[in-house]
Amino acid sequence: MREEDLLARELHAVVAGGSIGGLAAALALRGIGARVPVFERSAGRIQARGAGVVMQPEVEYLLERLGSSAAAVSVPLRRRQRIDRQGKIRAYDAPQLMTSWDALYRVLHHALPADTYHPGSKLVETAEEGDSVVSRFADGRAVTCDLVIGADGIGSAARVSAGIPGAARYAGYVAWRGLEPESSISERVLLTLRDAFTMYAVAGLQFLTYLVPGPNGETEPGRRRVNWVWYMNVTPETLPHALASRDGTRYRTLLPPGQLLRTTRLSLLESARQHLPTVLADLVGASNVFMQPVHDLPLTRMRAGRVALLGDAAGTVRPHTASGTSKAVGDALSLAHALKDWDPATPLPVEQLGVWERERGRHLRTVAAAGTQLAERSALGIPHAPQFLKDL
Ligand SMILES: Cc1cc2nc3c(=O)[nH]c(=O)nc-3n(C[C@H](O)[C@H](O)[C@H](O)COP(=O)(O)OP(=O)(O)OC[C@H]3O[C@@H](n4cnc5c(N)ncnc54)[C@H](O)[C@@H]3O)c2cc1C
Repeated sequence: MREEDLLARELHAVVAGGSIGGLAAALALRGIGARVPVFERSAGRIQARGAGVVMQPEVEYLLERLGSSAAAVSVPLRRRQRIDRQGKIRAYDAPQLMTSWDALYRVLHHALPADTYHPGSKLVETAEEGDSVVSRFADGRAVTCDLVIGADGIGSAARVSAGIPGAARYAGYVAWRGLEPESSISERVLLTLRDAFTMYAVAGLQFLTYLVPGPNGETEPGRRRVNWVWYMNVTPETLPHALASRDGTRYRTLLPPGQLLRTTRLSLLESARQHLPTVLADLVGASNVFMQPVHDLPLTRMRAGRVALLGDAAGTVRPHTASGTSKAVGDALSLAHALKDWDPATPLPVEQLGVWERERGRHLRTVAAAGTQLAERSALGIPHAPQFLKDL
C-alpha cells in the first residue's frame, strides 16, 4: 500500500433512497473503503416499482462481486414468442434470465451490514457547509458527510435541494401489471406462457409476460410467479380516475395491488376480453392488478457541488428497454470508480466526477431515446393514439 493511501481520510457518504440504485451505490462505495449509511423513506417493506426485471450485464456483475450470480436469482427462459389475437404462436429461441425487484433487493440488502440501512428516514434537505454537506431528515436527524448520493427516485428530494432542475411528466400511457403465484394460475394459461417471454402488440397496446422468482426468491417450478405488464394509452384527463384508489389515497406513481376501484377493474377486464388473446385476458382476470403510469424525467444534471444523483433520480428511461435497474446499478458502479482515489481531506475530484456525469449522461440519453422510439413504434404516448379503456 502506498504511503498516501495510508494517510487518506475515510470517505463518508450518505445515500438517500434504499431501492436497487441506493443499495448498489452503498455497496460499490463500500468496495472503495467508504463509510455509507443508506436512508430509506419507507418504514416497512418498500414497494416494488419494477416487479419483473430482465437480467442485464451491470446487475450480473454486481451480483458476482457479492458472491451471488445471475442464475441464482433468476428464472431461465428458453424462447421468445409472439401471440396473435386468435392465440396463434410464433416462437424463436432466445435464452434469457428473468429476475424480480424483490429477488435483487434481498441479495443487495443482505450484503450490507444491517446497522447501515435506516428505514423510515425521509431526506428533506441537503445543505453544503464548508467542506462537507449536511443531510436533514423528516424526523429531525442531521448527518454530516463528504458527499450525498441521491438515489431517491423521480421525485428526488436530493435533486430539488441541490437546485438541479427537473420535473417528471406523464408520458401518456400506463402499465397495468400483475405478479401472481404460478400455483394460482390455471394449467391451461401456464401451458402457453410458462417457458417463454410472451408478447402481444397492436397499435396503442403492448402486453408482455414472463415468469420470475417467487416472493422469497424461489426458482423451482410451481413456486415462481407470473409477471405481466400491459401498456395502454390513458389520456392525462382519465389518468386521475384510473389512479383512484379504494382507500382514498391519491397515488401518483404506483397504484398498489388491492387498490383498483371495482369500476376500473370491470372496465379493464372488459377491455381485456375485447382486445387481448383469450389466454392473456384470462391471466388479467386471475390477477390482483396494480398500475404504474409511465413518466419521463429528462436528464438535466447528475451532480451539483457535493450532491450526485443516480438511477431514476438523475433521469428516467422508458420501461421498454428493460434497463431502468441496470442503469441505476451502472451509475453506482461507475460513481465508485470515479471516487476511488479521492482523499476527502482534499477538494472534490470535480474532473473525475465530470467524466462520470458525461459518460453516464450519454448512456442515459441513448437508452431514453431508444425507449421512446420503441413506445412510439407501438403508438404508445403519441397524440391521438388509440385508446382501449372505456370511460372511467
Ligand atoms: C411501468 C414500469 C415498469 C418497469 N419495469 C422495469 C423492468 O422490468 N426492469 C427494469 O430494470 N426497470 C423497470 N422499471 C424501471 C425501474 O423501476 C427503475 O428504473 C428503477 O427502480 C430505478 O431504481 P432507483 O433505485 O433509481 O429508484 P426507485 O426504485 O424509484 O427507488 C427510489 C427509492 O427512494 C426512496 N425515496 C424517495 N424519496 C425519498 C426521500 N426523500 N428520502 C429517502 N428515501 C426516499 C423510495 O422510497 C424508493 O425506495 C420500470 C418502471 C416502470 C414505470
